Amino acid sequence: MAGKIKNCPMCGKLFNDTGHKVCMDCYDQILEKEREVVAYVRDHRGAKIPEICEATGAPAGMIKKMIREGRFEQIGVKMTYPCEKCGAPIISGKICQQCEEKARSELQKQASLQAAARQMAKVDQNRGQGFRSKERD
Ligand SMILES: [Zn+2]
Ligand SMILES: [Zn+2]
Repeated sequence: MAGKIKNCPMCGKLFNDTGHKVCMDCYDQILEKEREVVAYVRDHRGAKIPEICEATGAPAGMIKKMIREGRFEQIGVKMTYPCEKCGAPIISGKICQQCEEKARSELQKQASLQAAARQMAKVDQNRGQGFRSKERD
């Protein structure tokens, strides 16, 4: 499979992207780091993400990605990371289901408020026109 030549986002080197998105050197480093993280979690069950980051030097984003990929379930460890809004433990996405629902209903409320505002503006406009045309008479 022919790859695409581009700059590695981790080290800036030009490389042939075959789907890993980073160069082979960095990919090896990532795999090595992931192995380290998995080993640490296996030895320290219940370790929190900041603790794992500190112990392994892996970025939190990498650990979250590994949680989403189910990498810790493979070793029998249930890992979660906190919802960005309320801190509830989640295993996918950025926010928990509750916050997602809240955000969704908030959006709906905003949309209907906006629709109502548009409706009001229209009524105002019509009223204004009516007023002006009456004045012209
Ligand atoms: Zn690289
Ligand atoms: Zn939440």
